[in-house]
Amino acid sequence: MKRTHNCGGLRASHIGQTVHLAGWVQTVRDHGGVLFVDLRDRSGIAQIVFRGGKATAQASGRSSVPEALRSGTAQAGQLGLEYVISIEGLVQARPQGTKNPDMATGDIEVEISRLEILNAAQPPPFPVASKGIEASEEIRLKYRYLDLRRQNMTRAMKARHDFLQAVRTFFDREGFWEIETPILAKSTPEGARDFLVPCRQAPGSFYALPQSPQIFKQMLMVSGMEKYYQIARCFRDEDLRADRQPEFTQIDVEMSFAGQQDVIGLMERMLAESLEKAFGVRPGIPFKRLSYEQIMERYQSDKPDLRWPGYERRRLDDIFRGTGFKVFAEALAGGKPIYSLTVPQALAAASRSRLDESVALVMSLGAKGLVWLKLSDGAMESPAAKFFSDAEKQALAASAAKGDVLFICAEEAPLAEKALTALQKRWIEITSQPPAADYVFCWVFGFPLLEYKPEEKRWDATHNPFTAPVQEDMALLDTDPAKIRSQQYDLIMNGVELGGGSIRNHQRSVQEKLFSLMGYSKEIYLDRFGWMLEALDYGAPPHGGIAFGVDRIIAMMLGADSIREVIAFPKTQKGTCLFSGAPTPVEAKQLKELGIKADQKGAQGAG
Ligand code: ASP
Repeated sequence: MKRTHNCGGLRASHIGQTVHLAGWVQTVRDHGGVLFVDLRDRSGIAQIVFRGGKATAQASGRSSVPEALRSGTAQAGQLGLEYVISIEGLVQARPQGTKNPDMATGDIEVEISRLEILNAAQPPPFPVASKGIEASEEIRLKYRYLDLRRQNMTRAMKARHDFLQAVRTFFDREGFWEIETPILAKSTPEGARDFLVPCRQAPGSFYALPQSPQIFKQMLMVSGMEKYYQIARCFRDEDLRADRQPEFTQIDVEMSFAGQQDVIGLMERMLAESLEKAFGVRPGIPFKRLSYEQIMERYQSDKPDLRWPGYERRRLDDIFRGTGFKVFAEALAGGKPIYSLTVPQALAAASRSRLDESVALVMSLGAKGLVWLKLSDGAMESPAAKFFSDAEKQALAASAAKGDVLFICAEEAPLAEKALTALQKRWIEITSQPPAADYVFCWVFGFPLLEYKPEEKRWDATHNPFTAPVQEDMALLDTDPAKIRSQQYDLIMNGVELGGGSIRNHQRSVQEKLFSLMGYSKEIYLDRFGWMLEALDYGAPPHGGIAFGVDRIIAMMLGADSIREVIAFPKTQKGTCLFSGAPTPVEAKQLKELGIKADQKGAQGAG
């Protein structure tokens, strides 16, 4: 089949050339005998013109092919939407006044000389041509192959390809090898439930789909591969309430003889380069770096959105120690912290009704109250001002600038964070303040290594059980496990975690000690991780790595509401593939071979 050009690639420079195109009929317009067809392939759209009678159509012999097309005088309505056609035609300049500056190919049209219908099509259940989304997600997922024809979806697939291509180019240049690790694996401890796959050869035994290639990538370091990466599929059987998928893609990396700064530096260079190639956005590097302690102190969250730097948060306990203002005095006495949020230069917008609305907003989230303060020239306006001492007023005024509005709340960190984040969001809307940058990245490091689980009476890894403690904190392993900091680092962008990783325990003794602290008996940890511990004994080099979530990165860069918008065939929130119907019950024979007795009463295919 002859195809000389892509529809979306035709420009004025092609005028006078005869071209062969193939694609789908996106729209058909009849202008009194002259028929205009928008022909679409994945590159875009070209306008095709039929001027009555000239074209010689060769139908593909299907009975559904309209008679009118066979005779070459195509009529509107007879060349159906989404028909697949191939054409030959002459590229011409569009007549004056009919050029379309909004269209990449808007200067030209193709006057058809030959048409072949390659396949007819049912009318699509939703308009493929529309820019917006005009169908429910259920219908879109059921007919995903049609949904993917829509321009936004095609673009998302292309952006994803471009990004991953850039990632591969980067790692290749840096000397990393792409190595595939097993999908049929043994359970990895990433904290979620495993998807299990029964093994016919060993009835009653199961593989687990990998929650990540963690153990294998560490093994590759023991093998001396030194620099590994993989665009890896990971599987986690979690409740899908949030914007999550049971299977997702990670850029997974591990390297030997490297410390935290090496991994962090590598990954930010990778992102800067790949985001520029795929999205034309080059974030400045190095990214911000904040310790867990700093970030919790300032933002009460390890995932703050740092795009609006003027929205400072402060802890004001020191200012109000010994205060005469009963609300704060009682809060401090009860061990509650006092936090403030600065809304920069918002005086003009801070009407009484808006301030009252803010108080109502934080109270609806569960806070007991909210104090607001307007800082104008030399004066401080606030219903609480009369209770503050001069020293307190001075300290407050010094903590912000003239023209700022301050909100203060006395609540535990998680509630304070929720309240102040909601306030920030609302005031950004009110003042229509643009962000200082579209994308703000920040590394967070120095997390606590362990957290105590009182119900289980044991310590557990805050991130992953293979993460190494910070060297200076090693002595605390025996004395004060809560204070041990980990060599874990996470990357956040615009308040969303893109991924994280760590320097690992490469010495068996340290890893065993941590397993014991985590409440695993020797018998259990040897059973689960004995093979890994053994490998550490055979000359494991110091190593560390990281993983970034690809779906999330693409979704954020494209401003998509959900990662489902950037995955070709995502599952629904219930884990169903509406297009294929998976998961479905299987035949009794299959179960028998696997030695499995399943209660299939509750099972049902998605149809
Ligand atoms: N395995 C970790 C994860 O999937 C990433 C890492 O530590 O490299 O989140």
